[in-house]
Amino acid sequence: MKRALVTGGAGFIGSFLCEKLLTLGYSVFCVDDLYSGNQNNIKHLKENDNFVFFISDVTTLFELEVDEIYNLASPASPKDYQANPMYTIKTGVDGAIRMASLAQKLKCKLFQASTSEVYGDPQIHPQPESYWRNVNPIGVRACYDESKRLAESILFIYYREQHFPLKVGRIFNTYGPRMACDDGRVITNFINQAICNKDITVYGNGLQTRSFCYISDLVDGMIKFMGSSDEITGPMNLGSQFEYSILEVAETIIKLTGSNSKIIFQELPEDDPVKRRPDITLAKNLLQWEPKVSLEEGLIKTIAYYTEIYRS
Ligand code: NAD
Ligand code: UDP
Repeated sequence: MKRALVTGGAGFIGSFLCEKLLTLGYSVFCVDDLYSGNQNNIKHLKENDNFVFFISDVTTLFELEVDEIYNLASPASPKDYQANPMYTIKTGVDGAIRMASLAQKLKCKLFQASTSEVYGDPQIHPQPESYWRNVNPIGVRACYDESKRLAESILFIYYREQHFPLKVGRIFNTYGPRMACDDGRVITNFINQAICNKDITVYGNGLQTRSFCYISDLVDGMIKFMGSSDEITGPMNLGSQFEYSILEVAETIIKLTGSNSKIIFQELPEDDPVKRRPDITLAKNLLQWEPKVSLEEGLIKTIAYYTEIYRS
């Protein structure tokens, strides 16, 4: 039986990844310090004998014997990472060092959850992996963007010197059930506002764009990447190629929830990227992967999840 360590496993993406790995017959060690995660996300997994959960900070994690490491530990929403910038940096950088040393010692595979934020406010569109960036190193998003960039640098240093199988996935906006209701991200905010018939808060003029990947598609991509041959290291974009303006997302959510909410416009946060869409040619060619779930389908499932929370 293969053993996987998932750091940040009680978070949104991590909990779905743990669940999928268990269905594939893995034994899973899930580690999380619950900074932005929640044990409710994994409570249905705790009865499984092949699932073990530890509350621990990734930067101090004790050593485990595993075959694969998925390093997801990091605050991910702008609200969460800006709430404690130094913690975000420490998690990103020390966590990468810690996981790289463990992978080096065990000679095991390491997947790093990197991000589209490494491109900053991109000036090339869509973004291929070869694009180096337009990041403000001193802005409010820098704690996240720069620590994820430095984590990539650290991991490739270890990889070049020690040569364990490394997989760096640059994840673009992903959504679905189990995103924390108060994480401030656009899909959670809009769905929760729509369900409660509150104003929908569009920042700026709403013409900024994002590409939204449904969680099941992302998890499939991550697992395919982990299963790819050792010379495939990435960085590799993982995300949806369909791009929407934030205003379109607001209108779609109002339509799908049948809400009476009105759209209001609020100040655009500092350094908010104007447009974002991945070039996923690499993932298509090397992994035969591309997302399958449309935005409407994914939103319907996500809305059903939050509606249930409000009902119970
Ligand atoms: P999330 O906040 O739901 O999950 C992150 C988890 O990491 C949380 O459970 C949190 O408690 C845990 N964590 C944070 N710091 C930790 C530490 N020092 N030690 C142990 N655990 C720690 O966010 P998510 O959306 O599930 O993101 C998971 C990963 O994917 C993150 O690395 C994030 O940067 C990356 N990512 C996510 C997206 C997205 O759109 N969801 C996009 C790009 C990259
Ligand atoms: N956004 C918005 N209203 C909200 C939350 C977010 O208009 O209530 C916008 C935000 O300004 C950004 C986009 O939606 O342009 C995506 O924001 P999110 O925080 O989800 O992720 P990001 O891609 O910025 O990390």
